[in-house]
Amino acid sequence: MADKPKIGVSRCLLGDPVRYDGQSKPCTLIIDQLAKHFQLIAICPEVEAGLPVPRPPVQLTGSIEQPRLTGRDNPIIDITQLMRDYCQNKILCLAEFSGFILKSRSPSCGLHSTPIFINGQCVSETSSGVFARALQISYPNLPLIEETELESPAALKYFISAVSHSRS
Ligand code: SF4
Repeated sequence: MADKPKIGVSRCLLGDPVRYDGQSKPCTLIIDQLAKHFQLIAICPEVEAGLPVPRPPVQLTGSIEQPRLTGRDNPIIDITQLMRDYCQNKILCLAEFSGFILKSRSPSCGLHSTPIFINGQCVSETSSGVFARALQISYPNLPLIEETELESPAALKYFISAVSHSRS
């Protein structure tokens, strides 16, 4: 176990009920197949930042370049600074990771599938959540993938190879 590359996985993908609605989104491909190749380290940025389960859903809003994280149903809710502070601290702890599998469309974890809303209108569906952005900026060479992309055999093979070669 100890010699397997360590990769982070959005915790809800491993079956933990940490989503805003108290549910999970288990991905059997990760749980059944990738566990043979990698140490899977579960990370839920929103819960680690101190948010409860369940919690009000949030979405990216206000700007494509510098979106905020505000309440989907209650725009008064704004957890932007909380999540930015969490990411700033957490990123420092991830230098030994060889890759990440991220939950698609999440305002925290989505890699390039998260919508942004301005004045209630969706202005982008290809953005990244705040945690995924922090990973991209801090570790530009780290292999990152969303769980939906793993359904492609070619993408799965490429990710496994990239993680194996990213080890120092
Ligand atoms: S998508 Fe990310 S922040 Fe949302 S529940 Fe899953 S692990 Fe937590």
